[in-house]
Amino acid sequence: MPFNKKLNLILFNLRGEIIMRKKIIAGNWKMNKTPKEAVELINTLKGSIDTDNVEVVVCPSIVCLSAVVEATKGTNIGVGAQNMHFEANGAFTGETSASMLAELGVKYVVLGHSERRQYFAETDVTVNQKTIKALEAGLVPIVCVGETLEDREQNVTIELVSLQTKIALKDVSAEDAKKVVIAYEPVWAIGTGKTATSEQAEEVCKAIREVLADVYGQETADVIRIQYGGSVNGANANELFNMGNIDGGLVGGASLTEGFADIVNYK
Ligand code: PEP
Repeated sequence: MPFNKKLNLILFNLRGEIIMRKKIIAGNWKMNKTPKEAVELINTLKGSIDTDNVEVVVCPSIVCLSAVVEATKGTNIGVGAQNMHFEANGAFTGETSASMLAELGVKYVVLGHSERRQYFAETDVTVNQKTIKALEAGLVPIVCVGETLEDREQNVTIELVSLQTKIALKDVSAEDAKKVVIAYEPVWAIGTGKTATSEQAEEVCKAIREVLADVYGQETADVIRIQYGGSVNGANANELFNMGNIDGGLVGGASLTEGFADIVNYK
């Protein structure tokens, strides 16, 4: 079999063991699609996406999760939620716990998306509480970090994103940290059509990996996957996902149609 670059960076650790980071591309459907529409899109994608070389995840609205788990049975498409609560149960009207998601067959959960930080008062501390609970329930947390345009203009992007990453992973062991996916999503690039250049995205993803190395050591940092998110589409996915520290993407708008296949099947 020819070497497939999507199997990504193959590194060797100090003991000469192979470290491989499989690309992970997740679609965040946000508050779009009814259960019927969600299943229709899954049925379209089933025949057109490469799930051998890329870990593919779709994150529909909570009311679609059951239907999408059912529709993806027998495929390699994973299902994720867009949020969860950090408590196990209790009087939290409208909320959903990690174990409820896990029992449904959900495998991933997006945490700390900038829209949740902006509109629903999500903080670094609650992202950390949720990350811990998600890991306990066996879910893969996709932890979003990223700077606003103002932060970037003030030249504090790296400090800010480093802090968000460190707080999100506070009290998470190295073994658990290896399961976490970090999604670097510059807020100014989300839903705006303004994509970070591959160099800008790589610079921040590399800095995140350096922070992870400071906290956990290089071997652990080399295993953790870091996505880029922000106006990814079929035309820019190739360049972004071939950068050394970008291990796939979190995709919003462009994951809502069959065009998501062009992103997953990037070259
Ligand atoms: C997102 O919602 O995480 C996102 C990156 O959105 P978009 O791709 O539409 O910018």
